[in-house]
Amino acid sequence: MPALLRDAAERFGDHAAYREGDRTVSYAELLRLVERTSAAYGIASGDRVVIWGPNSIDWAVAALAVSYAGGVLVPVNSRYVGAEVADVVERTSAARVVVHDGFLGRDQVQELRDAGVDAGVVTTLADLMATEAAGAAPADVTPDDVADILFTSGTTGRSKGAMSAHRQTVGVARAWAELGGVRQDDRYLVVNPFFHSFGYKIGIVVGLLTGATLYPLATFDLDETMRLIEEERITVLPGAPTIFTSLLNAPGREERDLSSLRLAVTGAAVVPVVLIERMRDELRIDQVVTAFGMTEAVVVTMCREGDSAETVASTNGRAIPGMETRIADNGELLVRGDYVMLGYLDDPEATAEAIDADGWLHTGDVGTLDEHGNLAITDRLKDMYISGGFNVYPAEVEQTLARLDGVADVAVVGVPDDRMGEVGKAFVVGTATPDDVIAFAKERLANFKVPRYVEVVDGLPRNLSGKVLKNELRGG
Ligand code: ATP
Ligand code: MG
Repeated sequence: MPALLRDAAERFGDHAAYREGDRTVSYAELLRLVERTSAAYGIASGDRVVIWGPNSIDWAVAALAVSYAGGVLVPVNSRYVGAEVADVVERTSAARVVVHDGFLGRDQVQELRDAGVDAGVVTTLADLMATEAAGAAPADVTPDDVADILFTSGTTGRSKGAMSAHRQTVGVARAWAELGGVRQDDRYLVVNPFFHSFGYKIGIVVGLLTGATLYPLATFDLDETMRLIEEERITVLPGAPTIFTSLLNAPGREERDLSSLRLAVTGAAVVPVVLIERMRDELRIDQVVTAFGMTEAVVVTMCREGDSAETVASTNGRAIPGMETRIADNGELLVRGDYVMLGYLDDPEATAEAIDADGWLHTGDVGTLDEHGNLAITDRLKDMYISGGFNVYPAEVEQTLARLDGVADVAVVGVPDDRMGEVGKAFVVGTATPDDVIAFAKERLANFKVPRYVEVVDGLPRNLSGKVLKNELRGG
């Protein structure tokens, strides 16, 4: 990473690296800010630094400065409460905690104090940026040194910290940027959180490799997103499917000029086929691409230019160079290759459970590979339920129900049933009635897949990665 930063400053110089409100930071300036911040840290090689805050230019500077100083970046969810961050600080023995104080009107510094974090390690992002320090030289890091520990989204349980080496973080970003054809004149809106691999590796690091201009968004705001696309002529927008659903359903969207969008990449959760069709037809995005990834392996498969509309809509593309995919006997997707994490933080047991002796990472997702190696994710192993002896993959039912007019959003879970073992329950957002939903499902799905219950709700509980929290739905 340190070498990459210097290269970027040299190659892209005065070209804008970031724009946020009225502020623009060029690639040359970015390096100067990073040099100064890395000196201000006063950390040693291998020290872990926790960063807690929403997307911003300062966040990116603080994160890159950790790498520049030879430290290990540990970003945490901006929505965490102090006690959750304190837990990560303890688990990682962090040398420093950088806090975006005041985010969402909260007092994060006080929250950390209340949670017992040593005040001596805590710095606010604002204070860190204001520290006067002479620029430091980059630390000596080898490609195999640990660069970052990113946490999984916590969709199925407690978030796990996945460790990656510098060569992995840079390598996967390079592969993604090449497959997506990202260029220096791209204007890239980063709605994906920086603390997640899709915001950090596929955002910040992709910027350094390509010279694209990044627009960090602190929170997803539909109006602001449309305004930026229109006024700043955004060209690249990666995001969870929900981002595009919101854009499509935005009131007054037809009058907006979103035609600058040339590349949209979506994934991170099951992508409704109908959504891909609408992204092409209604948002008129030149290239719509789907991808499959996970924190433990960053990007695994991706569609590429030249893939048919059908391939993009029904699969997540083929393994990216450096990665291999295979389906196990139980249907589980296994992944091996250059970008599979080094392991989970301080948890050799969990690591050994996830990565087998032959190096295959067991993803916990069920999927199929077609004859060209295109991956279609069926669902998470954990979300599958058995109704009357038949396996039901909620994602398939959701795909079908998403096609019903009046269904804006939908999630299906299995709930206990005395006779069938489990039956489906659909949570639906929109104007469709439960009877509409069941009638529609009956025409298109085998009986055991038709949800027994339908509840109309105002919205689905989701985490910041855009994934539905099915545990909450099952419990509710
Ligand atoms: P946790 O592991 O803590 O339960 P998580 O698995 O949601 O959380 P991430 O690493 O952010 O955390 O997400 C990876 C998961 O997201 C994958 O295992 C898969 O279930 C889902 N996913 C990613 N891309 C796709 C996609 N294109 N289609 C369907 N699901 C996807
Ligand atoms: Mg996971």
